[in-house]
Amino acid sequence: MLPEAFRVQLGIDKGTDIEIYMDGDAIVVEKYVRGCIFCGITEGTIAYQGQLICKSCIVEMAVCCSEEYPLRVRGLKSGEIPVVV
Ligand SMILES: [Zn+2]
Repeated sequence: MLPEAFRVQLGIDKGTDIEIYMDGDAIVVEKYVRGCIFCGITEGTIAYQGQLICKSCIVEMAVCCSEEYPLRVRGLKSGEIPVVV
């Protein structure tokens, strides 16, 4: 049973499912999440490194990793040279 002080600090209500697992030498206690760790969606998730991730979050991460992403953030197209003000 999780001490009340821990539950309050972690925002875990009474009756909420929790998950306890080992991570190296540490014992980790967290809310039991059945869906994507980023958006919480439960459909079409893929297990990776012990976590569930949905396909749209994987695509978003791939876009963030692409070389063009910093240009997209600034509203530029590939090949345009950003103007430093
Ligand atoms: Zn997701």
